[in-house]
Amino acid sequence: MNWISKFIKPKIKSLLKKRSAGKDKTALWINCECKSLIYKDELFNNLNVCPKCGSHHKLTCEERFKIFFDEKEYTILETPLPKDNPLQFPDYEKKLKKAREKTKQPDAVLIADGKLNGMRVTVGVQNFFFNGGAVGAASGEAFIHGVQYAINNKTPFIFFSGSGGQKMQEGAIALMQMTRTVLAVNEFKKHKLPYIVVMTNPTSGGVTASFASLGDTIIGEPKATICFAGARVVRDTMKEELPPGFQQSEFVKDHGGIDIVCERKNLRSKISTLLSILLKKKEIQQAISETSDVTTFDETLQKASKAI
Ligand SMILES: [Zn+2]
Repeated sequence: MNWISKFIKPKIKSLLKKRSAGKDKTALWINCECKSLIYKDELFNNLNVCPKCGSHHKLTCEERFKIFFDEKEYTILETPLPKDNPLQFPDYEKKLKKAREKTKQPDAVLIADGKLNGMRVTVGVQNFFFNGGAVGAASGEAFIHGVQYAINNKTPFIFFSGSGGQKMQEGAIALMQMTRTVLAVNEFKKHKLPYIVVMTNPTSGGVTASFASLGDTIIGEPKATICFAGARVVRDTMKEELPPGFQQSEFVKDHGGIDIVCERKNLRSKISTLLSILLKKKEIQQAISETSDVTTFDETLQKASKAI
């Protein structure tokens, strides 16, 4: 027994450690799913998209802001941070602490103010590296704060979703964020400001079932998994084989779930064009609502005669 614990176990542990070196933050190389080894800097200079297979690797909030805003300039907003662990879930505080140390952010969602092709925009990003981007009270508060900020400053709101769903450690409080964020989006739409969602890999669970699916335009990054329940759950429930590419953004677009699939390198120009169209539409709607003050035919005649 001593021989096993002294020599065999450490040997196995060191072998396992070597195999997981691909996840080491200090490593200079990254393993892509196409089995290529890519130099980290080369990958980031290519917007974290594999130059060989085109796979869109995940981005942190800061990386996303840097590649999205003009001249990499932006201001991160301070968002309300509710009390940790409201249900006293075991080990949850430890998990939060670890995620905060790893990502250097207070919770999964960050909101920033900056410019896109000269137009001021408010942008929110979910960081999948923070506990799988799971939504609890803090993420809900951050999202709502972002919406309110966009209303106050009359800017469009762009949100990059990437999440496994709601936080089980916050139970009903996490589920309530679905309703709260939907109400916030409804309020935002009353102001006729554009709301664009970019679904990144993966967007699932309560996020897909609430604010992420309410964009005026919903964009998916290539091959991003977009779903409510995972493929295995669906297959086991339906008891049938699923079609190829099931729940990938291209499949979801073909079945009406999202509007556009757009490569990361084209996102800035695509969103900029969409915003100019949506803001033009807002101007036209305003002009129509101003002329609709005339309610009767007589009033129309009077106004017309005055104009003559
Ligand atoms: Zn690759």
